[in-house]
Amino acid sequence: MAAQRLYDTDGHLTSCTARVTACVPAGESWRIALDRTCFFPEGGGQYGDRGVLFPEGGEPVPVTDTREEGGEVWHTASAPLEPGTRVRGELDWPLRFARMQCHTGEHIASGLFHRLYGLDNVGFHLGDDVVTIDLSGPVTWPDVQRVERLANEAVSQDLPVSCAYPSPEELARLDYRSKKSIDGPVRIVTIPGYDVCACCAPHVSRTGEIGLIHFLSLQNWKGGVRLRMLCGSRAVEDVMAKQVSVSAISSRLSAKQEGVSKAVERLQAELEETKQRAAQLGRQAAEALSECISPGKPEALFFLELDVKAQRALVNAVLKRGTGVCGVFSPSGDGWTYIIGGDSSWDLRAVAKELGTALGGRGGGSAGMIQGSVPASRTRIEAWWTLKFVNKR
Ligand SMILES: [Zn+2]
Repeated sequence: MAAQRLYDTDGHLTSCTARVTACVPAGESWRIALDRTCFFPEGGGQYGDRGVLFPEGGEPVPVTDTREEGGEVWHTASAPLEPGTRVRGELDWPLRFARMQCHTGEHIASGLFHRLYGLDNVGFHLGDDVVTIDLSGPVTWPDVQRVERLANEAVSQDLPVSCAYPSPEELARLDYRSKKSIDGPVRIVTIPGYDVCACCAPHVSRTGEIGLIHFLSLQNWKGGVRLRMLCGSRAVEDVMAKQVSVSAISSRLSAKQEGVSKAVERLQAELEETKQRAAQLGRQAAEALSECISPGKPEALFFLELDVKAQRALVNAVLKRGTGVCGVFSPSGDGWTYIIGGDSSWDLRAVAKELGTALGGRGGGSAGMIQGSVPASRTRIEAWWTLKFVNKR
């Protein structure tokens, strides 16, 4: 006979006594069935409970998950227990309660999106880091904020959350979410004024227990939207962590906390301007440097800290003065990035290969210009350059 599901009528039951009715191996763990249980199996978007089974006179057995299969509730355990053994099962209550807060908060939010915007919750996932709700159509962030305010009003009203199994006739007359064909009796969860929904999972008894309902983000998702949210202690922890973050940014930028976003925008604009100025200076430096090269010099080699645009500008400026080949190496990590350019007498693609063979360089390009990186010391690069371009001319 399948287990009596104590969580069904009392979501706040944290422990129960029971007798083991079955125990079967499952990979490296065991699956244990009991005659009664307060452990909720995964369902309705909520994960299965975790906890511990304390057998009479035996070592405690951790339960890492609970699943329903073939009409039975199976506790995934790290050790076997003999059928007939009397046990006391204890839930990981802080985990279960946090899940119930998030789950009940999701009912209120989904009920509001349904009533105010005619949208359905088409996907719900109650993860241990974040809760996601997928809605069947688009909403804006101000819509989400409106729902968040109203949902938190429902919390402050401390409304009862009731679960019942209406008769088929009552059910037929009832307007509720998740109205799809379900085998057997349908469990209806009601939060008066906010939500009526078919759901099998445990919930808090009163909305006040949820504490806080807080949305984190909104993104387009399969023709609708995906919302990330948190409730209860998880929402409070999230708000506290973000406060630390905002305080740190505010103090670093010497900006008011509510104005950090504008301050970051200003900083980004300044950074962009600085980058452009640096690029301009790089080009000017390249021009100035090229002036120092004697016209017609056959080769020129530079080791300079330049970005790739300035490297290229320097190579081009030097080649314009009639230099046959010019290389610019700039420090990068443990090695150098390079650009080498040459006049029409060179096919530098072969040179890129030679540099790879000789010094482990990577790169390529066109006959007239190659670029890449080389993980060798300046001394070795200079020696290679001398052999290749100075001694052979
Ligand atoms: Zn539910």
